[in-house]
Amino acid sequence: MDACGAVEKEIDKVLTKFDDIRRNSSTTIDDLLNHVNNIRREIEDGGTSGTINPGQAILLSQTVKRIQDSLGHVSADHKDLHGNVSKVGKAIDRNFVSDFNSVCNETAFAKEEQTSEINQVICEHFLRQGMLDIAESLVEESGLEIHDQQIEPFLELHRILEALKQHNLSPALHWAQAHRNELTHHRSSLEFKLLRLNFIDLVSQGVAKQQEALHFARNFAPFASSHTKELQVLMGTLLYLRQGLDSSPYRHLLDPIHWVDICDVFTREACTLLGLSMESALSVIVKAGCAALPPLLTIKQVMLQRQCSGVWSAKDELPVEIDIGVDCRFHSIFACPILKQQSNDSNPPVRLICGHVISRDALQKLANGNKVKCPYCPVEQAPSDARQIFF
Ligand SMILES: [Zn+2]
Repeated sequence: MDACGAVEKEIDKVLTKFDDIRRNSSTTIDDLLNHVNNIRREIEDGGTSGTINPGQAILLSQTVKRIQDSLGHVSADHKDLHGNVSKVGKAIDRNFVSDFNSVCNETAFAKEEQTSEINQVICEHFLRQGMLDIAESLVEESGLEIHDQQIEPFLELHRILEALKQHNLSPALHWAQAHRNELTHHRSSLEFKLLRLNFIDLVSQGVAKQQEALHFARNFAPFASSHTKELQVLMGTLLYLRQGLDSSPYRHLLDPIHWVDICDVFTREACTLLGLSMESALSVIVKAGCAALPPLLTIKQVMLQRQCSGVWSAKDELPVEIDIGVDCRFHSIFACPILKQQSNDSNPPVRLICGHVISRDALQKLANGNKVKCPYCPVEQAPSDARQIFF
């Protein structure tokens, strides 16, 4: 954030200067234009002979000099502005790391299938954002094999979300009604929440929409038993049709947060049904990368200073644990407390009979014949008693 602040300060300087120059220049140019127009009128009024008398000639040469002077000032200001603009570039260089090579994994893009996977991730992101034309160009240029059936769900998702952001509930309602069985199976209240927003919208329009609101309330029938309390509240709002919802005890229902909330609920439910993640893989990767890069660069620098860069040799594993926030935590991982390594299929976590968990490699290292002593409590046991743990 400090880095952004420092660059922003330079940008502010440029903008202030730019405004000053623009103001001064336009006043100067306006003055000059007026002056030139006045002279032209004067000469034109002076007769049609086309000759200029000595007085006018002096006036003209004075004007030319004045214009040249002003032009000099404007171009000097312009050059000055360039100096400030280049300071912004220098501030960016100074405050941001431009060389990420030290923490780069060269093998990440080495194989063709890896490049293809990356292209697919980028393409999926574009589709989710509704940028169909860019996604299609990428598919074409990178030779990805993506069929229309794969594209359609993303586009539908995007269309519905865009409509929701415009407070248009119909596409989302149609979708929810078409997928009612699956949604009920997931105990989703998406359809109810959509109907509720629609109903509140009608009620908030007052007596004019009374009939429509009452008629619309029939849609709540399937939710009578599952959302009884909420329905009682909704029916209570009808009492305030005349008075207006905003001055009623139900005004919290008008809170715009419900519209933000419905977008989240819809995205979550739709992604679950389509077997997609809430966010595109690219967003998650960029978010995780932004959080992890600064500490990683610091660590790398410290390693270089202390000449122990060899410590971080395993490129697919980070030298330290970096907290990238709960949003980016998708599944549990186990790091062996003895070997300080993350467990994997070939070295899974095992539970000793005393309840302590270590990795299988650690168990083998600690085992002495058919006996092993737990490193945390002195319980002695047979290595074969240890059981593999699955997360
Ligand atoms: Zn133990």
